[in-house]
Amino acid sequence: MQKINPFTNAMKKLKESLDLIGVNGEYYKKLSEPEAILGKEIEVKMDDGNIQKFPAYRVQYNSARGPYKGGIRFHQEANLDEVKTLAFLMSLKCAVANIPMGGGKGGVQVNPKDLSEKEVENISRAWVRAFFDKIGPDKDIPAPDVYTNPQIMSWMVDEYSHLAGQYTPAAFTGKAIEDGGSQGREFSTSMGGYYALRELMKKLGQKPEQTTVAIQGYGNVGYNAARILHENGFKVVAVSDSKGGIIDLRKQGMDPKNILTTKKNKGDIGSCYCDDKVCDCEHYQKNTNKDLLELDVDVLVPAALENQITEDNVDNIKAKVIVELANGPITPEADEKLFERGVYVIPDILANAGGVVVSYFEWLQNLKDEKWSEVDVLEKLAAIITKEFNNIWTIAEDKKIDLRMAAYILGVGRIIDASKKN
Ligand code: NAD
Repeated sequence: MQKINPFTNAMKKLKESLDLIGVNGEYYKKLSEPEAILGKEIEVKMDDGNIQKFPAYRVQYNSARGPYKGGIRFHQEANLDEVKTLAFLMSLKCAVANIPMGGGKGGVQVNPKDLSEKEVENISRAWVRAFFDKIGPDKDIPAPDVYTNPQIMSWMVDEYSHLAGQYTPAAFTGKAIEDGGSQGREFSTSMGGYYALRELMKKLGQKPEQTTVAIQGYGNVGYNAARILHENGFKVVAVSDSKGGIIDLRKQGMDPKNILTTKKNKGDIGSCYCDDKVCDCEHYQKNTNKDLLELDVDVLVPAALENQITEDNVDNIKAKVIVELANGPITPEADEKLFERGVYVIPDILANAGGVVVSYFEWLQNLKDEKWSEVDVLEKLAAIITKEFNNIWTIAEDKKIDLRMAAYILGVGRIIDASKKN
């Protein structure tokens, strides 16, 4: 299979959206390169007393609509094309959600699994010292990403505050609640996806009780999506993680909390469905990730990795609706085929925008020294996702295009409008 360059693919979509908006040239030039690629070598004291150097970076893609926003990852294979793509998509995601933020992404080239907790802390603090003058609440606000977490954000805030000479929680989001994080952030990505799906279901006249769902990935996003959909009446009939998953053969729907308990107790999802009393191994079956994607369900939710639905398996996909909670789970070739077949794809830049929207709420709460309740946060999130889903739907209907291109038109159009004002 040909190696997919994610940045080339994203730029193809950008060009297409600019053509449909009716502008090109100047704007393609402006939006097809990041505003800054910052790279430094950070020096970190290791537990054995030695100083080790690690490449650290930050891509600041676009700030026309506000400060750069996006995660920091600790990963040994930091690939610039991938990071540039994610930074570009963050710019689009913030614009689609209509929050006053731009896009960025960054990290450190390191294998965090080789490090002690103290070394992770040292790397986190060194990253902040390296980029201190380029980040901050009104310039660039990082958040967690692959192998970074609320604890790391708390160390980063501490280091930033020390250098700034004042406590500055708004410099990073995704913090633990006790360190200035927001209520609801933990499951906001999945909740946003649910609000978008709820709107689509209304358009299609379909009721949750009649809707079967399969979910790939059972981490933060996949598990919370399963839980939220189950709580709202959908029938979750298959889930999987990297070790495989389970199918409910009778399609009655499983309680995701029970599956999580099995996963915690046994180390994988297993082939039997157990509640707190009994295990049923007769009406449930172990499945592979390949099987899960190709199941005959109404809604498929990829919530694990990129490039899962490709030219190789797209013809076997039976779901009528796909909600992209993962970033980039469908390749462009597969995307085209799905659209031709009338499959509705809620694109990642809307479907998983709930996370960055609540990060924005966290930043606002920190700046205003406020603490919003979970109900408040979710009401505000629902209003944003519902409104933007409907904006995207209208563009798609008017122009007879898929929801992804409609989302690109909405987001790119807003970035262009903001650039004109700057
Ligand atoms: P996570 O690390 O908590 O979970 C990832 C899950 O994917 C795990 O259950 C893992 O077992 C599973 N997985 C790995 N390889 C798999 C495979 N081959 N088949 C099936 N499952 C596999 O990560 P997460 O935070 O849940 O993120 C999941 C996806 O959502 C990623 O694409 C991420 O970029 C995207 N996303 C996350 C957020 C967020 O707020 N966490 C926001 C936007 C987008």
